[in-house]
Amino acid sequence: MSLLAVGSIAFDSIRTPYGEEKNILGGSATYFSVAASWFTQVAIVAVVGEDFEERHQQIFHARGIDTSGLERASGRTFRWQGEYGRDMNEARTLDTQLNVFEGFQPKIPQHLVSAEFLFLGNIHPALQLHVRRQLSGAKFAAADSMNFWIANTPGELSQTLKEVDTLIINEGEAKMLSGRQNLWQAARAIQAMGPRRVVVKRGEHGVTLFNGEEVFSIPALLLEGFRDPTGAGDTFAGGFMGHLARSQDLSDANLRRAVVYGAVMASFAVEDFGLRRLLTVTRQDIEERVRQFTRLTHFDV
Ligand code: AMP
Repeated sequence: MSLLAVGSIAFDSIRTPYGEEKNILGGSATYFSVAASWFTQVAIVAVVGEDFEERHQQIFHARGIDTSGLERASGRTFRWQGEYGRDMNEARTLDTQLNVFEGFQPKIPQHLVSAEFLFLGNIHPALQLHVRRQLSGAKFAAADSMNFWIANTPGELSQTLKEVDTLIINEGEAKMLSGRQNLWQAARAIQAMGPRRVVVKRGEHGVTLFNGEEVFSIPALLLEGFRDPTGAGDTFAGGFMGHLARSQDLSDANLRRAVVYGAVMASFAVEDFGLRRLLTVTRQDIEERVRQFTRLTHFDV
């Protein structure tokens, strides 16, 4: 097993200008692992409650995702309710019910401790650090974070940042974390906090990778159908790290390719609510979208 993700499994209720869905399977570990499963073997460490049924488990199994690190606790699964206005770049959280997530202490099964690629999804930074230290041999450790942790647990977050080599974060949160409005300055300030690489997710404006001194940027694909942005960030991370774990290549050229694979997977995720579109893509669809990206960004000097 080369890729391990820790994060949330959720039942999401989502409203966008294009429709509404209630209690559908989501969460950072879910989107991440489903996206990564198109590239490599992936395992998750997460917690669910008694309302998590066999049909939900089946979704992970059908994608070959290792769920031996999935803990079943008594109580209800984490629930998140959000809506998007016309500006689909930012979700408005209407309700968060931590439920079983509240007492979550990630336990890593023995056969996963040697994973070389580690994704620390958006959970309490102290838990991220706890997992990071258990996988001290990982050669690529990336973390995600959000405004909630930046505002409420800055000390713990700063400790986590010292021990990961990559931070994958939204543009607004990169600016909040660094206190800088200029993206270049924000990324450099975050690099000074620890991570050598900062991947900034910029919604409809695409993604920018700061890899040491190198900077690489791509736009978002222009899509005909766009219904629900939930999970785009974690799906991006799943495609990005899935490609890296599959290729075992951390060169700058390959990190750039990984950014494209991440953006391609995110472009599928947003075409429908929840996992619906992500579960029906094919390898051919993925490669066709990579070609679309190449055409979109190609020019001759
Ligand atoms: P994103 O990729 O940023 O759109 O993440 C969307 C997912 O994050 C949703 O499926 C939610 O269930 C999950 N989520 C929302 N708030 C939290 C939170 N505070 N902690 C963990 N996961 C969350």
